[in-house]
Amino acid sequence: MIAHHPSDELLLGAAAGTLDAGAAIVVGAHLEGCAQCRASVQAFESVGGVMLESLEPALMAPEALARTLAMIADPPTARPSAPVQSPRPDLPSGVAWPRSLADCAVSRWHWMGPGMRWSRVTVPNAADANVFLLRIGAGKALANHTHSGLELTHVMCGSFHDGRSLFAAGDFDAADGGVRHQPVLETDGECICLASVQGHLVFDSAIARMIGSMAGI
Ligand SMILES: [Zn+2]
Repeated sequence: MIAHHPSDELLLGAAAGTLDAGAAIVVGAHLEGCAQCRASVQAFESVGGVMLESLEPALMAPEALARTLAMIADPPTARPSAPVQSPRPDLPSGVAWPRSLADCAVSRWHWMGPGMRWSRVTVPNAADANVFLLRIGAGKALANHTHSGLELTHVMCGSFHDGRSLFAAGDFDAADGGVRHQPVLETDGECICLASVQGHLVFDSAIARMIGSMAGI
């Protein structure tokens, strides 16, 4: 049962296609497992369609029609080839990769502390997207931190408590610079989260800051 969903603002952004590349991937991963939010996005999309239909038609550049007709008569044949995907790192059995990561490269798991690993997600054509996976062992705690910008999280498996609430598989969280939290894992198994951060995590402790800056998260 999903308890935490993206805000209407984020779902509206998903419907309008205005989310940044990192946010679109994390919100997209939530939508894949949440029928309630998919229905909201569909509702926003149909409202958007009605608004577009009610707008006055814009004047087209004189050559636009000719260019469009030429495109239809002679469609460009050189389609960009699909990016070559590097092998994906392992996941616990029964956990699937979100489809929103289909075009992304995902690095191997890197050590970031006892029972803690991370993986870099490289988003095509979005060099400044800071997207990564965290894989934390049961009962472990991530270092206390805040954020220089909005941090979006989708829980792929396992669960954690961060002092505000319990987050479990399928849940979504948005935390901004005003939230200082320390996610603590439940003891029932490891937890994997997909996260996108605008800016970087800001850790309280020097050692966590050092590991965080090495990892580039
Ligand atoms: Zn939802």
